[in-house]
Amino acid sequence: MAAETVQIHEHHPLDGLNTFGLPASARFFAAPDSEAGLQSLLASEMARDFPLMILGGGSNVILAGDFPGLVIQPAMKGIRCLEATAQDYLVEAAAGEVWHDFVQYALAQGWYGLENLSLIPGSVGASPIQNIGAYGVEITDFFDSLTAVEVASGKQREFTHAECRFAYRDSVFKQELADRYIITRVRFRLQRMPAVKIAYGDIQKELSERGIENPSPQQVADAVIAIRQRKLPSPADIGNAGSFFKNPVVSLEKCRQLQQQYPALVAYPQGADMKLAAGWLIDQAGWKGRRMGPVGSYEKQALVLVNHGGATGHDVLALAQAIQADVLQRFGVELEMEPRVYGVAN
Ligand SMILES: Cc1cc2nc3c(=O)[nH]c(=O)nc-3n(C[C@H](O)[C@H](O)[C@H](O)COP(=O)(O)OP(=O)(O)OC[C@H]3O[C@@H](n4cnc5c(N)ncnc54)[C@H](O)[C@@H]3O)c2cc1C
Repeated sequence: MAAETVQIHEHHPLDGLNTFGLPASARFFAAPDSEAGLQSLLASEMARDFPLMILGGGSNVILAGDFPGLVIQPAMKGIRCLEATAQDYLVEAAAGEVWHDFVQYALAQGWYGLENLSLIPGSVGASPIQNIGAYGVEITDFFDSLTAVEVASGKQREFTHAECRFAYRDSVFKQELADRYIITRVRFRLQRMPAVKIAYGDIQKELSERGIENPSPQQVADAVIAIRQRKLPSPADIGNAGSFFKNPVVSLEKCRQLQQQYPALVAYPQGADMKLAAGWLIDQAGWKGRRMGPVGSYEKQALVLVNHGGATGHDVLALAQAIQADVLQRFGVELEMEPRVYGVAN
């Protein structure tokens, strides 16, 4: 196949390409809209000589400053049904599709399962990176396989479900294969018969208030969208990256110790261990709604850090570190950041 040329932009602003609204620019930027284009880009001297950053919708990154290399934003589009069986549909979506639009499109086709994952910002290509999840569903529940291009060789490779090693907000692409593959297409097995999950969070309550007893998947999606719009700040209004810290997992013994001191501690079983609600810990430490310069913890949800205007990556990281140190000192629990940090602080 003839090599495809991809336009490369120099000193490209990233301010509008990250949901925290942080100021930064890329030394070089390219948005290939085909696998062949991506492969020819990876074969270029620029891709070999400069550090690379893969950027989706920028909703789970903190740009600490300018990125001194090549930022690649996969822009491939397309959604297609590859196979229909009596039980399900094998559906493939390209990396550059907007996740929420894909979920809505799937529902409209009668391909069910992803309804609880409505309104999660970002791209389809990033969805396997941290095994996105919400309201009792994670993509691991419906994931089939994916296609990616290896950065070093430009070769295409398929990953099975097992090879992705999905876990809570985690996959092999956040671990030993971090930055080594660019995901170009993701395949899901979506159900023909709806099997809605409404036990988690406020979904049931929201549906009852709407007088809905036997909800359709679209009604569940609408309920999830309404709840999220009430609880979470829209990046269009106030810069943020969603949950800023992962919910920490501690031993049962550690959890019991904390429960003696803090009977209201919010904790859920996670295998043999316990998962604590990071938001509760941050709230208890007095950070909810508190500001530190142009950044702060969101007034309605302590786990979400927000940009009140004019923040830099440095401001965000200083706030994150202050919260981490306080929670460690009070509860002896380490909070791990969920978004990934890129760039050199100015
Ligand atoms: C308001 C808000 C609410 C959120 N709610 C949730 C939630 O409920 N559940 C949840 O799980 N997450 C949530 N998030 C986090 C975020 O939406 C997800 O992590 C999303 O998958 C990130 O997608 P993105 O395209 O923006 O990725 P980016 O932020 O651009 O990138 C994230 C990481 O993935 C890598 N990456 C991106 N695309 C590719 C690719 N094609 N190939 C290889 N690597 C790639 C990047 O290098 C980076 O390390 C929320 C974020 C916000 C702002």
